[in-house]
Order: sequence, then C-alpha cells, then structure tokens
Amino acid sequence: MASIFANSSVVASSDFASVKTIPAGLPLISNVTNLLPTPLLRGIAFGILLSIAPMLYAETIYQVTRLMYQAGHLKRYYPLPKDRNYSSVYATVLSFVVPCTVYGHVVTQGPWIWEVPSFTSITLSTIGYMLMHDWFFYQGHRFFHANKWFYKMLHEAHHEYSHAMNVFVVGYAEMMENFIMVGWPWLFWTVVIHHYGNQNLAILAPPLSITAFTTLIGHSGYKYHVSFAMFHPLIIPFLVPGMSKYMLTPGDHQVHHSHRRFNFGLFFRMWDYNYGSYKKCEVWARDVHYWRKFVAENPDYKTNKAKVGFNLAETEWGF
Ligand SMILES: [Zn+2]
Ligand SMILES: [Zn+2]
Repeated sequence: MASIFANSSVVASSDFASVKTIPAGLPLISNVTNLLPTPLLRGIAFGILLSIAPMLYAETIYQVTRLMYQAGHLKRYYPLPKDRNYSSVYATVLSFVVPCTVYGHVVTQGPWIWEVPSFTSITLSTIGYMLMHDWFFYQGHRFFHANKWFYKMLHEAHHEYSHAMNVFVVGYAEMMENFIMVGWPWLFWTVVIHHYGNQNLAILAPPLSITAFTTLIGHSGYKYHVSFAMFHPLIIPFLVPGMSKYMLTPGDHQVHHSHRRFNFGLFFRMWDYNYGSYKKCEVWARDVHYWRKFVAENPDYKTNKAKVGFNLAETEWGF
C-alpha cells in the first residue's frame, strides 16, 4: 500500500509548512467550525456543512440532465418524477460524511494535506477503492435482499421506487443502510489513507465523488449516455470499448429496482456475472417527445395503471 501513496507519505511532519495544508479541513468551513470548543462538535459541524456539497452536486446533475432530456438529447425508461425528497437525501449524505469528518477531527487531529499526488497514485488508489467497495456492496446488498428482517428494516424504503426514478432516489433510503453500505467503506478508506499515506484530501476525494456520481446517475432513470462523463471525468477510462461491458449502467439498476433479484453491484458487473445475478435491461428508453405524446393521447394516464405497468398518480411528473 505504501508505494501507492508514495508522494504524500514522504512528507515529514516538519515539511508540513512547505506544502499547502488545510489545518482542519476546507478553510471556509473551518473558520466557522473552529469556534466550537471540542473536536467532536467541530467534526459534526464540519460534516453537516460539508454535506451541502453532495446535495448541490445532485441538484446540478438533476437539472442538467432534465434540460438535456427536455431538449430531446436523453432517453428515459419511465417518465421523470419531480419529487426530490431533500430531507431524506440530506440525512443519507450526513450518514457517510459525518463519521469521516468526526474521525478526522477527533482521532487524527493533524493537518489534512491538499497536495496533488501523482496520476498513478490517484488512479491506483481509486481503482483499489472501487474494487473493495464493489465487492462489499455486492455482498451486503444481496444479503439485505436475502434476509427478510434486514430487508424490512433497512432496504425496503429504497425500493418504494420500483419504476420511475430520478437522481435523488439514491438518497431515499434508511440512514443506517447508507452508513453501512457507503459510510463504512469510505470511513475504512479514510483510516487506511491516514495510516499508510497521510491525510491527503486529493486521494480521498476521487473515491467518494465517483461513488456519488455512479449512484446518482444509476438512479437517474436515463439510458446511459456518453455526455454523463461531463459530471465526472474519472469515468472516461471506463468508457473505452471493451471496458464498458463490465460497468453497471442506469438501465442495469433500473432492472434491480423493478425485479429485485438481479444486478446487486455498485460499479462493475463482474460479481453479478460471477454469481449469475446479472440481467440485461429489456425496457425501451424513450425520449421526451414520446412521453409528451403519451400524456396527450392518454388523458387518464394518472389512473390507468395498465398503460405503463404501475400507478402514475402518486407523484408529479416532469414529462
Ligand atoms: Zn437503488
Ligand atoms: Zn436493492
């Protein structure tokens, strides 16, 4: 492990002044949280404020994809729901950001380094993280579906959205589930980075951001489109022909929500291929013109369940 983080691990504590350091996190937020008396309170407050960033990221993806869809550039498996469940999504974000910031403030107490590591360090550590988290997620997710008690307690709420989804559905879930499935792997990774390569935010940020990107786009309800790379440039290497057939797509996760017995993975299809739980998406994705015509031709669409296979009456739609 040490060689992966070679760039940052060579920085001795006496050299901290020579690199760009952030004493207790990002400067703007730190100015506010440093007013609090204890590291625990500072960690919690820092996490609460930092959690606004993933919310803005989700809103940006929602708005940009919606505009592209309404301009006819993207296709959807089902119509676009407008409900965004902000409070439940924010609770979800807190469940994985707060534990890491508390760890950072209470346990390590040291300066967080923001020096840009080598390309190799970022690539290897991000791929390492994705392999680790993907395996953990597949096993945990499959277990949540296999065990009735855990399914009811932790995962059933997330599956209330069985057909039409938008990016915010990823956060429509139990807080504890998100801590176990996303918070725990990232906290584990934070501890690993702390012990083997100093607290380098440039190493920690890509794994978290690619997890956020993958899960947000995975629940977007749009057919995968190459333009999604604009939201996360690190996915570009995974788009090369040959690689892409090993990556899970929004269509794959759409299958998981409507069938529940398939496609348990997070990033890759390999565990689903390996355990025989992979199922290809067979629903046609349609553009906005189709859905608008559908509404015009079916004035009773809100109550006519037969037309789309599920009840459209329960939400507001952004056809
Ligand atoms: Zn889901
Ligand atoms: Zn599930």
